[in-house]
Amino acid sequence: MVTTRHYRACPLCEAICGLELRCVDGQLTAIRGDAADPFSRGHICPKGNAILDLEQDPDRLRQPLRRHGRDWEEIGWDEAFAEAGERLAAVQKAHGADAVAAYLGNPNVHHFGHFAYLPAVLRQLKTRNVFSASSVDQWPHQLVAFAMYGHQFLIPIPDVDRTDVMLMLGANPVASNGSLMTAPGIERRLRALVARGRLVVVDPRRTETAAIASEHLAIRPGTDVWLLRALLQALQAEGPPRLAAYAGKLTGFEAALAAAATITPEQAAVVTAVPATALRRLAQALYAAPSAAIYGRMGLSTQAHGTLCQWLVQLLHLYLGQLDRVGGSLPNEPVMPVTGPGTSPGHRDRWRSRVRGLVGFSGELPVAAFAEEMATPGAGQIRALLTCAGNPVLSTPEGPAVARQLAQLDYYVAIDIYLNESTRHAHLILPPAPFLTQHHYDTVFNGFAVRRVAKLSVPLRPRAAGERGDWEIFNGLGAAYATAAGKPWRDLPEPRTLIGLGLARNAAGVTLEALEAAPQGLDLGPLEPSLLRRLETPSGAIECAPAFLMEALAALEMPRVFTQPAPFDLLLIGRRHVRSNNSWMHNAPRLVKGKPRHALQMHPEDLAHRGLQTGQQVWVRSRVGTLQVEVEASDALLRGVVCLPHGFGHGVADTRLHRANTVAGPSYNDLTDPQALDAPSGNAALNGLPVSVGALPH
Ligand code: SF4
Repeated sequence: MVTTRHYRACPLCEAICGLELRCVDGQLTAIRGDAADPFSRGHICPKGNAILDLEQDPDRLRQPLRRHGRDWEEIGWDEAFAEAGERLAAVQKAHGADAVAAYLGNPNVHHFGHFAYLPAVLRQLKTRNVFSASSVDQWPHQLVAFAMYGHQFLIPIPDVDRTDVMLMLGANPVASNGSLMTAPGIERRLRALVARGRLVVVDPRRTETAAIASEHLAIRPGTDVWLLRALLQALQAEGPPRLAAYAGKLTGFEAALAAAATITPEQAAVVTAVPATALRRLAQALYAAPSAAIYGRMGLSTQAHGTLCQWLVQLLHLYLGQLDRVGGSLPNEPVMPVTGPGTSPGHRDRWRSRVRGLVGFSGELPVAAFAEEMATPGAGQIRALLTCAGNPVLSTPEGPAVARQLAQLDYYVAIDIYLNESTRHAHLILPPAPFLTQHHYDTVFNGFAVRRVAKLSVPLRPRAAGERGDWEIFNGLGAAYATAAGKPWRDLPEPRTLIGLGLARNAAGVTLEALEAAPQGLDLGPLEPSLLRRLETPSGAIECAPAFLMEALAALEMPRVFTQPAPFDLLLIGRRHVRSNNSWMHNAPRLVKGKPRHALQMHPEDLAHRGLQTGQQVWVRSRVGTLQVEVEASDALLRGVVCLPHGFGHGVADTRLHRANTVAGPSYNDLTDPQALDAPSGNAALNGLPVSVGALPH
């Protein structure tokens, strides 16, 4: 029998494309972009098609696995839940609540069965040692939204389809498909912008996005804070700030402007390598534009001044009068609310990490502290761990140190579909059933979309006997732990019911039944200004000068010339590819076929200066580690910058990743430094990492 279903929210990136899935006799046989989806309009990228690989992957775990030394045995679900619950409770009973930690990978926010059910388990564990991929990613965005607007998810989204001028920093959506700007088919949208207006990309590399932009400004990694401050100053030469729309809803703007706009474009140029004339031209274009939006992503966030940069982006929007304005930058007001009553606005510095005293944010600690919290003896030392859809060995700073500590844990239970570089250290693995067997509503990325959209994804096929959905695993683990720990527990209902309950709170009147009657989803129109009405700061106003940001700004000294910290003479940055999803998907044949993509890229003159040639094996050294990799020339890079993709580092013993283990390439996080942080947030400074490179002996 042939069936075709629409499953919104391909969960492999934030673009949430609508997919049309063809099934024959219950087996998924074909996938294509759903042309009738009002949001993605047929868009699909190679990762969407790789869901076929994911469904049919013989390495995918289907039953709980328990480790005995280097061997694994399949066990039943009830036995697995009971063991995990008892072991986690026993560690806490002996050593305190914080002795059990949790690490949550990025996929947790991509599926309702994780996102909506995991928090109940974390609330039961009541540990301060919660870490996630958010602190190697978007914490600066959330922290600035919390500090200025009162809620971590009141994040303004660039109105890419209606803006006239867009400034994009440290972002490559043509390769990544966008992030904190859910916009399926982003290349089409950006080309339309270039045709009607102007797209300026600031990046150390002429990326795939820069290649289609109106202008590319090559910047030294990690120096954007000086460019943004100089841009604020250059705007003052164009005219006064346009603040009329925010009257009575703004505090501290003048103080923030006076403190931040003290750098001239000429001073900034010395450090950033972006010519002062280009910056003044940019200020003119932004100020003159009827509408303008500024967007900074991974390159701007995962660097030493990520939070200051995101704050400056918001101040620039305010100066231009483009905050919460059509064509500017404005938060989505999603059908299933992520802000307002009953949601978590966030909190900062409620507790700190035990060893280094790093400030926590919104119930988590910076993952840069993860290894040391496992390694350092004393009260509160991490002795047991729960990971959910995460591979911290490849995804967090100084991965080898993390791996060494995972191997020492008293107990480690992983919710994961793979026996990978991290979960090979687990004592127990609980693998969720394929996501296509469950109802799904995208709670997170509808909230970051460039239009107001809503769609219910319905199961494509029933779960096979013996499979458990992710939501069932969280219910089962939570109940078993609560029993062992003597705590109360109530199972959450299945996803369709929970989605219905979430929708019941929406002001747009979209019901579960309405979504079930619209298999391709609903488009409720473009973004509308809502921020001023939804502010959740205690003052009820936009807080332009939060004390901790003003202090961080005051502590920042402008170098008079650009210098590299000896002995490192190069700066390392990351690189995305449309077939890559960091470490998630390298076991998918469709995504790893073709030319290798792992080489270290270096400017041809930097290669020549070192007597190196394309194809040669080199060592790359940072303060904490060394790796080996082929080098290749790329004139897309600024001189002094080298570029390596993240997510590689497979081929490790005792993993079950047959395809990934044939994929060459070292792990970027063999080099990243847990001491390199964005101070206000604790977000890891993965980009702009000082390294040196040299030839390996033949
Ligand atoms: S862009 Fe690709 S990976 Fe992202 S949601 Fe669409 S099909 Fe999936």
